[in-house]
Amino acid sequence: MHTLISTARLLFVPLMILIGAHLALPHAQEAPEAFRLLLHILPYAACAIAAGLGIMFGQGRVVGMALLLALAYWSVTEVNALLPGSRFEAGVLFTAVTTLVPLNLLLFTLLPERGVFTRHAVLRFLVVALQAGFVTWVIAAERNDVLQALAFNTLNAALPWLHLSDSAVVALVIAVGVLLWVVHRRGTPLEAGALVMVGALALLFGRAGVGDAPEAYASAAGLILLASLVFNTHYIAYRDDLTGLPARRALNQRLAALGRNYAIAMLDVDHFKKFNDTHGHDVGDQVLKLVAARIRAVGGRGKAYRYGGEEFTIVFPGKTAQQARPYLEEVRETIADYRMVLRGGDRPDAKTGEKKRGSGGSGRKTVQVTISIGVAERTREIRDAEEVIKAADAALYRAKKKGRNRVAA
Ligand code: GH3
Ligand code: MG
Ligand code: MG
Repeated sequence: MHTLISTARLLFVPLMILIGAHLALPHAQEAPEAFRLLLHILPYAACAIAAGLGIMFGQGRVVGMALLLALAYWSVTEVNALLPGSRFEAGVLFTAVTTLVPLNLLLFTLLPERGVFTRHAVLRFLVVALQAGFVTWVIAAERNDVLQALAFNTLNAALPWLHLSDSAVVALVIAVGVLLWVVHRRGTPLEAGALVMVGALALLFGRAGVGDAPEAYASAAGLILLASLVFNTHYIAYRDDLTGLPARRALNQRLAALGRNYAIAMLDVDHFKKFNDTHGHDVGDQVLKLVAARIRAVGGRGKAYRYGGEEFTIVFPGKTAQQARPYLEEVRETIADYRMVLRGGDRPDAKTGEKKRGSGGSGRKTVQVTISIGVAERTREIRDAEEVIKAADAALYRAKKKGRNRVAA
């Protein structure tokens, strides 16, 4: 669960882009002609750059989102070109795009990253192509009956300013609702960006026939996608995938920016090699996750990182080792008292494919681990963050020698 503040931080830049576009829109007409021409291709340019970087970085989800966004913008301009002459074509295209793009965007956001040219990723692109094929067929075969069957406009009758079919409103509401929940739960930058992008899409669709509105909102959505790509790439590089804690790279950056007084603690799971040998590496991974969650919750303004393997680091800015100690004792105790319930007692075994019904009939195994902690502070003799870590490591070694499950300074 993320706090309101961290959620707001994720949404800040995307929201600023959308609000900026919204506020600039009324002044677009005063802009020089050259700028307005540029504005027409800005959505495509942003999508192309995002797709290109997405391919380079192996982020198929971003590529998919860029394609969907370009498709949405193209469709809106196409609908405007078709009207008022070809009402049927425009109606099918607009109803289909306003409904399908938000839902597909949601899908691309929620599905796990599977790269760009993998079987999984190509399958996703095919699903979008299939929908596009269906819409093209409805238009080409002039299947007015399909449009009649699928497009309800009850909301439009009640709220004429909406300009959207019922299916589009439902799709947008579902996308916003699900993404709000996901951003609040998991809080990754791409999901936060997708949430605001759906907002931009709603404005793009809702004001599709108004002056420069399509260009402005589609550009905003494209820039939001680009910003989200940057944030997502940073997020991937600086966060440890298994535990969700900031990774070694983030620690190094923090160490370079520390003030004059701080304490650093090194934490290490006790006898973890044996634990892995007994319970298997998968259970070991689960336990690392649960332990990391407890370490993350450390008090005293301590910030936790995964140092590597089963080792963690906590940085306490402005504290001495003595001041940090009670918070560390608390973490050590919480973990030692923590009976971890393992999920997947009745899941198929990864290797044999057989179902294990859990041991002892209860179906739920619990395990326990302890951790040892060494803590050191910056002094006149130990001035370098690297040396403080070395001192904390030496203290950790002493904690291990004294019998483990303890804090040494
Ligand atoms: P000690 O109490 O002295 O720390 O004993 P130990 O066995 O924990 O010490 P050692 O550092 O020799 O072993 C660390 C083990 O942690 C080795 C490896 O099996 C396990 N380990 C490291 N990283 C991971 C990981 O990401 N997942 C899992 N499941 N195990 C890991
Ligand atoms: Mg170790
Ligand atoms: Mg260990």
